[in-house]
Amino acid sequence: MSKAQSTYRAVQAVSPGKLEMVEKQLSGPTSGHVRIRVEACGVCHSDSGTVDGLFPIQWPRVPGHEAVGRIDALGDGVQGWRVGARVGVGFLGGNCGYCERCRNGDLVNCQNQEFTGIQHDGGYAEVLIAKASGLISVPDDLSSVDAAPLLCAGLTTFSALRDSPARAGDLIAVLGIGGLGHLGVQYARHMGFEVAAIGRGADKADLAKKLGAHHYIDSAASDPAKALQALGGAVVVLATASAGKAVAETVKGLRPGGRVIALGVTEEPIQLASMDLVFGSRGVDGALTGNPGAGDATLKFSALTGVAAMIETVPLANAAEAYAKMMAGKARFRMVLTMT
Ligand SMILES: [Zn+2]
Ligand SMILES: [Zn+2]
Repeated sequence: MSKAQSTYRAVQAVSPGKLEMVEKQLSGPTSGHVRIRVEACGVCHSDSGTVDGLFPIQWPRVPGHEAVGRIDALGDGVQGWRVGARVGVGFLGGNCGYCERCRNGDLVNCQNQEFTGIQHDGGYAEVLIAKASGLISVPDDLSSVDAAPLLCAGLTTFSALRDSPARAGDLIAVLGIGGLGHLGVQYARHMGFEVAAIGRGADKADLAKKLGAHHYIDSAASDPAKALQALGGAVVVLATASAGKAVAETVKGLRPGGRVIALGVTEEPIQLASMDLVFGSRGVDGALTGNPGAGDATLKFSALTGVAAMIETVPLANAAEAYAKMMAGKARFRMVLTMT
């Protein structure tokens, strides 16, 4: 925060691939919104939607949808939140409460929902204005830095597993041991599943086991579908890798009725033979983060079980370097910006 307290620092995307630090004027929260003093914000691959303009973006735009901080002002009509509360802001910017999907309880797919850092400014900043309906509660025993990456990478994997057809003791496969996958393995283990991690190369075997995997399948050395069938077949494959071919290869590793849940966003097609779906009634689903209640549960479950992202913290001033490192695939595994 600047000395004058009337401005704050933010890092915004100004043109494809270009991030710059600016001073912005502080303003009050509008109706239904809160103002947050941000303490930490994770750097997520989906930030490229803003920085590289994959979504239609009106620049300048502040990216960041894994923000944690304290509420310092409430807009008109905000109920259930107080000044001083520590909250998280994820990708979903807050549901409207009145559209047909909200009225049917599907808050994730609200037709009027904006995405944080896409249609409005996100968390690469000291201050963030967020819609109250999208806020997530941060437990006292979880630090802001630890909570940040759980708001997108954590919520996505936790929610997909919790909503999946798998039950305790079932075999779950996690495809990809990266930003999402290293959390997915931990959640699956703590939820009571038998866990197979699938990675490329032998070098991630030790890490996968350390994170809680019972089995490690090296997809460069063996056919992951055959390896899963040798274990009895997976009830669910959590596909955190976005390569369409790697995702398709796991379908034959499912038990009858099993599901591949795609979490990695890409335009690359997932090519499948219908016979592999028809015989055994297998399916491929997608899942997008989760509603705010699932966000609360993600953070609470993480605090209870000790599930944590492996993180590297970077000061806000170095956001561009952190973003570049993440995009180069060199983050191990989540970069988190700190504001103080
Ligand atoms: Zn709605
Ligand atoms: Zn994200």
